[in-house]
Amino acid sequence: MLPAMDAGHGTRGRSDPPPSVSDPVLDDPSAMALALDEARAAPAHGDVPVGAVALVDGLVVASRHNERELTGDPTAHAEILALADAATAVGTWRLSDVTLVVTLEPCPMCAGALVAARLGRLVFGAADPKAGACGSLYNLCADPRLNHEVPVTAGVRADEAAALLTGFFAERRS
Ligand SMILES: [Zn+2]
Repeated sequence: MLPAMDAGHGTRGRSDPPPSVSDPVLDDPSAMALALDEARAAPAHGDVPVGAVALVDGLVVASRHNERELTGDPTAHAEILALADAATAVGTWRLSDVTLVVTLEPCPMCAGALVAARLGRLVFGAADPKAGACGSLYNLCADPRLNHEVPVTAGVRADEAAALLTGFFAERRS
């Protein structure tokens, strides 16, 4: 017979550790909110507002934004930077336990990096009809010729991500 405290919700035993308030387990829209916050930091140094967070078991292990202009590095997309930080955090290049949440559909370089990292899962916001490689122009995340496929959830808070980009480019033209 199992103890009653295992039988359902709301029956936490007194000896259970309290739920952590500093490390909330995030669902996709909540994680995307953090990625959007990251994206908003990019225009301060002239970069296109794209942000990415990496999670393991719903906890953030990396959070980066586009730094191409800041660093002069053509590979400094938010996804590449977040993957590198996530690999450091988990201690291996193989990121099969990692979910990457990014505001914009990854480009071919970044989608290639996701496959190379054996990423566990991708969540993105706005589709990118001009450069997207996770469904728009290409789908490198679901190509059976490659050695890994990445499950993709598209369109999470897409309007907010797209509005950030539209606002950035409108301001630059004015
Ligand atoms: Zn990219």
